[in-house]
Amino acid sequence: MTIFSKIAQGEIPSYCCAQTDEFYAFLDINPLVKGHTLCIPRREVDYIFDMEDDEIARFQQFAKHVALAIKKVCPCIKVGEAVLGLEVPHAHIHLVPMQSEHDMQFGGPKKSFPAEEMQQVADAIRNEFEKLK
Ligand code: 5GP
Repeated sequence: MTIFSKIAQGEIPSYCCAQTDEFYAFLDINPLVKGHTLCIPRREVDYIFDMEDDEIARFQQFAKHVALAIKKVCPCIKVGEAVLGLEVPHAHIHLVPMQSEHDMQFGGPKKSFPAEEMQQVADAIRNEFEKLK
């Protein structure tokens, strides 16, 4: 089982931002900015482009709704989306609330926020996501 499957199943704690039967979203533990969120399918698949067309469409729709929720909570110009997948072999979409293009520099330094702030932002995103249903 991948570390992200363990997170989606609650075996490893995470700051949950949104969930459905099929997908799960949680804060990145080493965020580029506050509100940096990862979206994953609960089904284990490593490479995102191995997903079937209809599954990836539903995944992208989930990520869109999470991005809309992030935009309500985190001050930003736009929410950027990226797929890397070089570290964790479980498909995931990065959603990053951007103030500038520098906020999408994955090779750069990561940030760290107190647990209280991480919980607060995740709760706020989840609250906005629930309103979209
Ligand atoms: P990638 O595979 O897209 O290159 O990077 C994986 C991302 O997952 C990184 O941004 C990293 O900080 C994040 N990550 C790795 N392990 C964990 C974890 O156990 N919990 C959380 N919340 N994020 C993780």
